[in-house]
Amino acid sequence: MRKRVPDAVIVGAGPAGSTAAFLLAANGLRVVILDRSPFPREKLCGGLLTRKTIQTLAAVFGVTADTLRSEKVIRHESRGYLVGGRNRRPIHGTLDYPFHLVDRTVYDHFWLERAVSAGAEFRAGARVIAFNPSTSQVVTSGGDLLQGKFVLGADGVASRVRSALRRAGRIADPRGGETAIAIETFVPRTVSGAFPDYPCLHYGYIPWGYAWSFPAPERQALGILALRHKAGHRVASCFRDFLSSQPVRMEKELRFQSRSLPYGNYLATPGWKNTLLLGDAAGLADPFLGEGIYYAHRSAQLAADAILETRSRPESALQVYRSRFLRILYPELRFAHAARRLIFSLPLRLYYPVVSSLLRAMPKIWEETIQGQRRFRWLKKLNA
Ligand SMILES: Cc1cc2nc3c(=O)[nH]c(=O)nc-3n(C[C@H](O)[C@H](O)[C@H](O)COP(=O)(O)OP(=O)(O)OC[C@H]3O[C@@H](n4cnc5c(N)ncnc54)[C@H](O)[C@@H]3O)c2cc1C
Repeated sequence: MRKRVPDAVIVGAGPAGSTAAFLLAANGLRVVILDRSPFPREKLCGGLLTRKTIQTLAAVFGVTADTLRSEKVIRHESRGYLVGGRNRRPIHGTLDYPFHLVDRTVYDHFWLERAVSAGAEFRAGARVIAFNPSTSQVVTSGGDLLQGKFVLGADGVASRVRSALRRAGRIADPRGGETAIAIETFVPRTVSGAFPDYPCLHYGYIPWGYAWSFPAPERQALGILALRHKAGHRVASCFRDFLSSQPVRMEKELRFQSRSLPYGNYLATPGWKNTLLLGDAAGLADPFLGEGIYYAHRSAQLAADAILETRSRPESALQVYRSRFLRILYPELRFAHAARRLIFSLPLRLYYPVVSSLLRAMPKIWEETIQGQRRFRWLKKLNA
């Protein structure tokens, strides 16, 4: 085995890993970022970015939506949106700031390239198969052993780093350990026609979840998700049911892809000493809407700041990261979780009437909350 001693070993080169790698390398740390896949790689996702994500990207990378559009990272944007229910009149809304839509193959590669340009070393095809929290050593399937002053677990919903911490008794999973199962398919817009060119959410097709239809220039993303332990076994049949309400030619066999995503399994203590968990690895996706890209970038930004502050005392990194995480991100997740419990514990036929009444009564408050101009908790307006 070959031995290396970087400042930070980052496992996973999705939005969370690349953001942390960029910030740390740009501040002079020696960073190695490992991913089991060569990039660009596919990532199943709706690719919808809210305003708070664009703002985080501006703060971290100094890029604007205009730059991302001209670099062809943003493929579509829309101020319009629709929320619908089964056989009900939908609500059409207009946002003050648009939703942006990206293709994750292009998007994730773009941020990884930024991290590499800032000086991070990327190792493609380096699957981490073991992690020892006490020695901060990771082992890859190729036999490399890396020890970091800091180790960042940004390796997604089935994180090896997180499971190693759990097995070592360093973290405890939240009760219930909730994840969602999602299915998505892509339909060429030219063939199917008739899709709206704004994002649509649909309630009433599946218990403990919802379906979506998101546009992009050439293809429409159609998907569904549900809390695994409540409705996981019904996802495929509910998805077919949803597709039959859409302008999709079902006679042509569609390729369904299925993945997990965090849906309530966020950690109150996202790491241990010098090992920090980010993004999906820490369970950081909105437990109601499933939005995870913002949480990936933002948690990585908080973690990188904590590391830069604790360079000379790595064992305090978690403490600094956690205090900011508890203040900035955790309350949002808790509120979304409570809202989900409230709505999804109703009978399925009532999801849409409740969601639509709330949206009709105070559209701007909900829009601003989702866009990050208000905190979920107390729906308090921010200065952002
Ligand atoms: C169907 C679906 C639709 C979604 N739609 C949206 C949406 O529209 N908007 C939104 O905001 N969020 C959405 N999400 C959630 C979003 O995709 C995630 O929250 C986001 O990708 C999290 O980023 P991450 O960097 O934490 O993890 P990931 O993007 O999952 O990146 C993890 C990386 O780690 C690598 N890796 C994993 N294991 C190992 C290992 N053992 N060794 C080395 N490398 C490893 C992987 O190859 C991957 O590159 C969706 C999720 C799904 C499943």
